[in-house]
Amino acid sequence: MVKKKQNPLKIDFEKCVIEDKLLQIRKETDSTEPYLVKVWAIEINARSSKALIEFLRDDVQEKDPVSFLHLKRIKKSHRSGYLTVLVCSFELINEEVDFDELMANVKFDYLKLDEPIWVPIQGPGTKKLFMEWSAKYWPLIWRGNPNDQELNSYTFDMDKIKSVLQNITEKSRSLAANNHSKIPVVSAFVNPVDGEEIYMSDGREDGSELSHSCMRAIRQVAEQEQERRENALKTSGETETYLCLNFDVYTTHEPCSMCAMALIHSRIKRCIFIESMGKSGSLRPDSGDGYCIHDNRRLNSKYEVFQWIGDEFELPEIEPRVCC
Ligand SMILES: [Zn+2]
Repeated sequence: MVKKKQNPLKIDFEKCVIEDKLLQIRKETDSTEPYLVKVWAIEINARSSKALIEFLRDDVQEKDPVSFLHLKRIKKSHRSGYLTVLVCSFELINEEVDFDELMANVKFDYLKLDEPIWVPIQGPGTKKLFMEWSAKYWPLIWRGNPNDQELNSYTFDMDKIKSVLQNITEKSRSLAANNHSKIPVVSAFVNPVDGEEIYMSDGREDGSELSHSCMRAIRQVAEQEQERRENALKTSGETETYLCLNFDVYTTHEPCSMCAMALIHSRIKRCIFIESMGKSGSLRPDSGDGYCIHDNRRLNSKYEVFQWIGDEFELPEIEPRVCC
């Protein structure tokens, strides 16, 4: 169920494929158990609900890093005439003293619950789970499969994607043919601000074991960024930003865990790769140890990943154990 405006791209929501060519790669989330977060809760007299709603709207909602859109904010309490209310997450306020301070000036009486309430951080993928989680944890609001909505919100310039993938494929093939390179991996980093494309091949044969194509490209972006910051300092402009903020990264082969992690740190927006690396890759759930580094709740940031599943781009083969 997709309520928002339909994306003009052809999207197979069941298979998670865009335009028959781009397979969305994410950690398998058919798990029936939700990831839970702690929430501060209070009990109020039902007559205070108007003041409460104003308070939540004005003082809490916008600031909370946890979205409550999939949760009912209020439910009937066991006490007749009273309501139990989710106020804010522990991500927003961790200490009780800070919570008391937040509540110090509210215009209604309330009773703070002794224990926090645990709620699913995200809505479930099916209506059946929605019913189960609502009964087990806290009443939810069914808004359709969250991933359908995510897919529907994506924008892709398919011509641009094909042209960059064509470029890295040609460079990879020519490396394999002309230099007899054992690791003909090529990546392209596209700057969202000016559209500049940086192409980088693997550099391990010249020495450093860490010179994977993604690492070298990040280093090049860093050098350019350093120059930009020096110039910005001179004109006293803003200097601080993440290195590859919102970059699109294209790479011939699925990145290894070092590169995938470096892409997390650089805050890229999207990575599109062509060839899976079953042993050394770290994005597909069935690659390597199945970390899905770009979509891992234990890490503080994520990026989108897609694999090109058309047969347009034929790449030289690489030993499956080689990290790319
Ligand atoms: Zn790598």
